[in-house]
Amino acid sequence: MPSGPAAFLALFFFRAFLTWCDVRSRLEQGVMGGQVSSVDGVHVVVVGGGFGGIAAAQQLKSRGLDFTLIDMRDAFHHNVAALRASVQPGAAVYTCFAQRTFIPYKETFGERFVQGQVQRIDTDRQTVVLEGGREIQYSHLILCTGTDGAFPGKFNTVASYQTAVQVYEDFVKQVQAANSVLVVGGGSTGVEMAAEIKTEYPNKKVVLIHSQIGLANPELLPSVRQQAKEVLLEKGVELLLVSLCLCGRVGVTELLCVSGQKVSNLSELQLNVTQKNQEVTTERGDTLSTDLIICCTGLKVNSAAYTPAASGRATESRVPLTGCLADDGALKVNDHLQVEGFSNIFAVGDCANVSEPKMAYHAGLHAVVAVSNIANSLSGKELTSYHTGNVTMLLAMGHDDGVGQFNGLKLPRCLVALGKSRGLLLWKSWREMEQKQP
Ligand SMILES: Cc1cc2nc3c(=O)[nH]c(=O)nc-3n(C[C@H](O)[C@H](O)[C@H](O)COP(=O)(O)OP(=O)(O)OC[C@H]3O[C@@H](n4cnc5c(N)ncnc54)[C@H](O)[C@@H]3O)c2cc1C
Repeated sequence: MPSGPAAFLALFFFRAFLTWCDVRSRLEQGVMGGQVSSVDGVHVVVVGGGFGGIAAAQQLKSRGLDFTLIDMRDAFHHNVAALRASVQPGAAVYTCFAQRTFIPYKETFGERFVQGQVQRIDTDRQTVVLEGGREIQYSHLILCTGTDGAFPGKFNTVASYQTAVQVYEDFVKQVQAANSVLVVGGGSTGVEMAAEIKTEYPNKKVVLIHSQIGLANPELLPSVRQQAKEVLLEKGVELLLVSLCLCGRVGVTELLCVSGQKVSNLSELQLNVTQKNQEVTTERGDTLSTDLIICCTGLKVNSAAYTPAASGRATESRVPLTGCLADDGALKVNDHLQVEGFSNIFAVGDCANVSEPKMAYHAGLHAVVAVSNIANSLSGKELTSYHTGNVTMLLAMGHDDGVGQFNGLKLPRCLVALGKSRGLLLWKSWREMEQKQP
């Protein structure tokens, strides 16, 4: 690993490169529009203050468009760093790592931020209805409700950010108390989780179990996925992966079948709490004993605000966005990111049914397109289209290593470590929120 001035220079150029590419991709999409001064009757409501929501709100702010940002929590969660916050104790490096992963909305958006859970969207009356009955009218709506998933990758509870920080600090103690940890699910989150634990606590036994062929996101280059596996093995993570086994024979031809490694008694196990020697069984019949089980599977689109069952209204006709939902609850959008059938409603980020990996990076790009299209529609200009580019994805393998690809090209591990793994891009979110990182 380069260190000292070499590391600084490499990091500087990598950041400059990322910034340049970001600006370039916006230019290519023709969306570096100028300021639109506040327009009478225009009020944009942004639902969800994740990566997509804060990017949309900042775009609206810089264009001088009137807006309200709504989130059920009081702080933005930079969940890209949530796994580090689960293993790094407070006394290390900074006073508390978890604290750096939550950024309060009020400081950035003031009265333009409203805390509340959106329960219903009334497209006829152009209002969003919050829990408790408060209604907020919109001329344009940007839905950025994202996804929820298992803790610690996601923090799903509605709680103050001080409580959220405490939850992560308490979880660090659970990890510290365990001699062995089982990480369930070898997608990108599981891979990063296993690497974080083994990097911070090299003496703990860490096992990663995965039911699919190949680790990490399937959209990554096979060589990057292979490299992720190699880094885990180098760090000493034990892998329980899919294997091929003989399941029959026709004449001289052997029939091979894929034998998955999946925990079969997950629902009976207590997750995220250290209990010595919990018995875990796999669908293949193996058993293993571990002190702590962390689940890294199952992201689910937050569609509660626009699905009838969750919004407590039995009839679909009263929930007009129901017809726009894909099977996984994501909102179907056209190339302009307008929700099918609505010219003034946009979906951005994980809740948009765009065929690409669900990533913060993409949520930010979507936000630029959605806000540009609101401005374009107001000034009578042609709408901008969103085009998925080649996959850019960086996996932090602990603070000292990383794998990934940029625009479809595999990156050297040291560059990913410097560009992402070391600081987990926290600086980017604090800069976007115009606040000083503690
Ligand atoms: C552990 C982990 C690491 C990751 N690392 C990376 C990475 O390195 N790079 C990358 O590009 N991507 C990464 N991702 C993916 C990235 O986190 C998501 O793609 C990103 O968060 C999507 O942003 P979003 O704005 O669409 O939604 P979210 O970030 O999920 O935010 C949605 C927001 O909406 C709010 N909300 C939901 N429903 C309502 C409602 N009804 N009323 C009010 N508010 C509501 C929620 O409170 C939340 O704040 C990672 C994901 C995980 C889990």
